[in-house]
Amino acid sequence: MWGPTTVCPRETLMEDSPRVKRYHRVHRLLGVAGFLLDLAILGVLLFTGWSVKLRALSGHWSSRPAVALLIYLLAFGLLTQCVGLPLDFLKGFWIEHRYGLSNLTLAAWAKDRAKGLALGGALLALGAEFLYGTMRRWPEHWWIICALAFVGFFVLLAQLAPVVIFPIFFKFKPLENRVLTDRLLALSERAGTRVRGVFEWKLSEKSKKANAALAGLGNTRRIILSDTLLENFQEDEVEAVLAHEFGHHVHRHILQGIAVQMAATFLGFYVVQVVLGHFSGFFGFTGLADFANLPLLLLVSTLLSLLLLPAVNAHSRAMERQADAYALRAIPSKSAFVTGMEKLATLNLAERQPHPWIEFFFHSHPSIEKRVAFAERFKRRELKDEIGSIL
Ligand SMILES: [Zn+2]
Repeated sequence: MWGPTTVCPRETLMEDSPRVKRYHRVHRLLGVAGFLLDLAILGVLLFTGWSVKLRALSGHWSSRPAVALLIYLLAFGLLTQCVGLPLDFLKGFWIEHRYGLSNLTLAAWAKDRAKGLALGGALLALGAEFLYGTMRRWPEHWWIICALAFVGFFVLLAQLAPVVIFPIFFKFKPLENRVLTDRLLALSERAGTRVRGVFEWKLSEKSKKANAALAGLGNTRRIILSDTLLENFQEDEVEAVLAHEFGHHVHRHILQGIAVQMAATFLGFYVVQVVLGHFSGFFGFTGLADFANLPLLLLVSTLLSLLLLPAVNAHSRAMERQADAYALRAIPSKSAFVTGMEKLATLNLAERQPHPWIEFFFHSHPSIEKRVAFAERFKRRELKDEIGSIL
C-alpha cells in the first residue's frame, strides 16, 4: 500500500503540528487501551473459570460439539463486543469526527459496524469450527493442517476481496477519465502487471482521507483510486502513487508477504499447540479440543503477534523503501512523488516525524520525512549523473 503520507519539497525538516501530534497520541492511546482491554477480557474468562462454565452451558443446549461451539462463540462474541463497544466508538467514530476526517453519520457508522461484525463474526466462526473440528480429528497434526488451510484461505480472501468484500462497504465504478486510465494501464504494462481495469472508489461518502491501491490477485487484480484522491491530485501525482504500488509487484512483495504470513502462521499454530497441550489439564479443560480453551489460544496468539510485530514491521518498511525506489525510477516527474506525499499527508493527517521507537514498533511504512528525504536524494543523484554525462 501507499501508506500514511505527508510532505513538501524542501531541504529543511517539517515539524508536525500540535494537532497532528495530538491526533496520533490519542489514536495510539485508544489502540493500546483496546489491546489491554482484549487481554483483560481473555484473562478474566480464563482465570475466573467463566469460559469453562460457558462451555458447559453450551453443552446443555446441544450435545453436538460443532453446535455447542457455535453457541459458545455467540455468547463470547456478544460479551467481547459489548465490553469493547465504547472504545470502538471512540476509535472508529469520535476521533475521526473530532479531527474532521470523517463524513460518516452515526447511523451510517453503526450500519458499517454491524456489517463488519456480521462478516467478521461469520469468518471467525468458520475458522473456529474448522480449528476445533481438526483438533478433535487429528490431535497430533491439527496445527499443520490448520496453518496450511488458513494461509490458503487468506490467499483466496485476498483474491475475492475486491469483488466480494469491498462492495459490501463501498461503491466502485470504472474510472471515467480515459487519459488517466490509459496512463495507469501503460504504467502497469511497464511493470509487467496485468490489471483488470481502473476503478473510482467512492470513499468521500465516508471519509475525507485519500487512498489508492492495487487490489486483488490474478483475475481480480485492479487499480482502485479514491474519489478524494482524484479530486485533490494532479495526474502526475496519481501516477507516482500507483508507481509505488507497482513497485511492490515488480519486487514480488505479495509472494514475500504470503511467505512471511505462512511462516508466522506455522510458528503461531505450533506455539499454540505446545501451550494448549501443556495446559490441557488446567483451568478445568477436558483436553486439547475443549473449546473452553479459546481465551488461552487467543491470549497466546495475541502475545505472539505483539512479539513478532517489530520484525514484521521492519520487513514491511524495507519493502516500502524498495517500492518507493521503483516508483522514483518509473515516473518522469520525481517532484510529483514528493508533492503527492505532501498532499496525502495533509489529507490523512499523517505524522511526518514519529518518535523513532514508535516508528520501530508500530509503523509498517517509513516516516514521511524519510520517504521525502529519500526522494530528494534520488532527484539530486539523478541530476548529478545527468550533469556528469553531459560534461
Ligand atoms: Zn506500499
